[in-house]
Amino acid sequence: MDPVSREHSGKAPLLFELKSNSLDDGPGIRTVVFFKGCPLDCVWCHNPESKRVSVELSHDRGRCIGCGHCVEVCPEGAITLEGAVTIQRHRCTLCMSCVDGCPSGAMGRVGFAMSPGEVVRTVMRDKPFFDNSGGGVTFSGGEPTMHLDYAAELAGLLQAQGIHVLLETCGLFPYGRFSELLLPHLDAVYFDLKLFEDSAHRAYCGASNRPILENLGRLADAAGHSKLTLLARTPLVPGITDTDRNLLGIAGFLRQCGITKAALLPYNPLWHDKGRSIGIEPHSLLLDAQKGFMSPTHVEHCRELFRSMGIDV
Ligand code: SF4
Ligand code: SF4
Repeated sequence: MDPVSREHSGKAPLLFELKSNSLDDGPGIRTVVFFKGCPLDCVWCHNPESKRVSVELSHDRGRCIGCGHCVEVCPEGAITLEGAVTIQRHRCTLCMSCVDGCPSGAMGRVGFAMSPGEVVRTVMRDKPFFDNSGGGVTFSGGEPTMHLDYAAELAGLLQAQGIHVLLETCGLFPYGRFSELLLPHLDAVYFDLKLFEDSAHRAYCGASNRPILENLGRLADAAGHSKLTLLARTPLVPGITDTDRNLLGIAGFLRQCGITKAALLPYNPLWHDKGRSIGIEPHSLLLDAQKGFMSPTHVEHCRELFRSMGIDV
């Protein structure tokens, strides 16, 4: 059977974007498949529309022209327009009438289903760019490993087309099923390690980091015996993850695992507006320090800490 035409047999998870021409999600020019749903709940999440597995309604204030058509078409009376559009989300049934009726595209549906075969057919249009740049497809989210059967089927189809497949992961997944189903189809894994102390990880990410540390150790071992590229990444969140204590703890753990290369990702506060568009206000644990960009001097200080522990960043 043609691997591209083979359809996914089970229920497909929701995706929220297929993004072409990305230069930030792995080597070369890449198409990024964004999955919905994540087992963590990081207070600084840059993709808040990825957290829930289900469909959501978004409203982009910047695109809204204030015409009031959404107010008229909503059967639940869930939308008001007094200066600006307000959605009473507890009344919304996600019928999407307002999305269909919005003339400016300000109202949007977040989440769509595609079979693995459909995704492959779509990304194959970008294959010339992959081939010319050393790029490929990146699975991101959300957390792709929440949908292991689907992700494995999609990665296998892409692999059969000679496409480089990279997984971006929060690291919280059942290692046995992951290594059996998905790992054989991956060329690279970008593995996020945010907080080294378990109590801090529970407070800011909503779960223990013990399984994440274990998974990183096992994956580092697997990478040492295969061609898999493994990159550990730490997002720098001012006052939370960018402390000397946390960074030195993470760097020490990476050395224990035999990992000598990592990436530090400077904080980007622009996600706040994305969250508001789907009704999520910035978390109360986020302080003024997390509302702006980081200074280049502080980012360099963080990098120096990693280098002092023998980690190349
Ligand atoms: S999705 Fe339907 S119920 Fe929800 S606000 Fe829009 S029109 Fe109203
Ligand atoms: S229909 Fe669209 S543009 Fe008009 S008020 Fe509603 S969200 Fe804004």
